[in-house]
Amino acid sequence: MITPEVPQNKSQYSPMAKSSVRNKPLSCFSDGFLYLGGALLAFLLVWSLWSYTVPHSFEPRGSTKSATNDARTQQCVQENPAVNLGYDPPDQTFYDDQELSYSIERPMKNWDEKRKEWLKRHPSFAPGARDRVVLVTGSQSKPCKNPIGDHLLLRFFKNKVDYCRIHGYDIFYNNVLLHPKMSSYWAKLPVVKAAMLAHPEAEWIWWVDSDAMFTDMEYKLPLRRYDYRNHNLVVHGWEKLIYKEKSWTALNAGVFLIRNCQWSMDFMEKWSSMGPMSSEYKKWGPIQRSVFKDKLFPESDDQSGLIYMLYQDKGLMDKIYLEGEYYFEGYWADIVPTYDNITEKYTELEKEDGKLRRRHAEKVSEQYGVFREPHLKEAGNGKGSWRRPFITHFTGCQPCSGDHNQIYHGETCWNGMVKALNFADNQVLRKYGFVHPDLLDSGTVTETPFDYPDDGPW
Ligand code: MN
Repeated sequence: MITPEVPQNKSQYSPMAKSSVRNKPLSCFSDGFLYLGGALLAFLLVWSLWSYTVPHSFEPRGSTKSATNDARTQQCVQENPAVNLGYDPPDQTFYDDQELSYSIERPMKNWDEKRKEWLKRHPSFAPGARDRVVLVTGSQSKPCKNPIGDHLLLRFFKNKVDYCRIHGYDIFYNNVLLHPKMSSYWAKLPVVKAAMLAHPEAEWIWWVDSDAMFTDMEYKLPLRRYDYRNHNLVVHGWEKLIYKEKSWTALNAGVFLIRNCQWSMDFMEKWSSMGPMSSEYKKWGPIQRSVFKDKLFPESDDQSGLIYMLYQDKGLMDKIYLEGEYYFEGYWADIVPTYDNITEKYTELEKEDGKLRRRHAEKVSEQYGVFREPHLKEAGNGKGSWRRPFITHFTGCQPCSGDHNQIYHGETCWNGMVKALNFADNQVLRKYGFVHPDLLDSGTVTETPFDYPDDGPW
């Protein structure tokens, strides 16, 4: 893990920078004008209002002006006091190395040092670097074959955007193959590598499949758990299923959290060498199938590849965290039938505790997740639980192609997705004052009255 040094330039984090917007024009312009008479004060008022509405007249941050000047400027410009998006000094970084390649085929060396160096030269990104997450997802470059496929993918993406907005994460949607041979389930590895290079400010890259969605918008990743023993890769899985049952579903590779570090670069290089970009691709399918007897198709796939690596080298468990304590992702067919009961249980909690039903700004939603936590002690986790499942994964439903696995009844997948999308959307819409009364009716909302849901019938 990279822990960047605390920046020298204190002025960027001075308490002054946090003072309210209303004071801004005055704090910028008061010095020279305080002694002036009434007429000039009127002029000042006009000028203040003008400067309030035209902030671009000030020097941008990160300019070469003196530190004092910078400090004054930062009191005026308020876009984001935490990070400086407009500052990239001319100092050489890994980006200036002409040998640097974003391609999954070219190994990356000394990434930890390179990232650390970049962070040192961009000190405004230091605070919070340890918890910074970029969610990466994507889909094919062509329109979906399923007539409602693109609509579903849009809603799946909207759901991820909602989650990221609530928790302050960045998000990247990719819809082109970054390596022509690494298609379908292998396509994510080149994207994740590229995202690591594009986001040296982020500690974690979080791959979430296009067919997976957040169904607990308040739940926050327990990142400290993964820092504790310096784990670098988090997947939903079970050790017993890898080493004893030898199942290709021992873990799910559709959602994973990977630390932006050299270990991950090396790991992905090895992992992708079982994919179609490798000259040895053909041999890996039969090898995977010989170990994991329940593997369905003959070609090497990313999930079997990952399990195979763990199976061969148990020492990897020191770096790979198999998350089984909550639905880091969960199988939709188990989860979808539980949404109605969960909705009822959560409504009861809100009726009991006024704190939970208080209206609030979307930005402070995490606080309400914390408030709710003590009430969920009895809810359990995973199968049979009435806690909102964190991520519901529509494995086998193929929303884009429409070629869903034949083991599911025709409408089960589509109704399941609609229900899940509205179940999640209800948690978002509540902050906007509305709610879908019927989870299968995407087009209808009702306004939530004050103190909802204290007085029924809901
Ligand atoms: Mn998937």
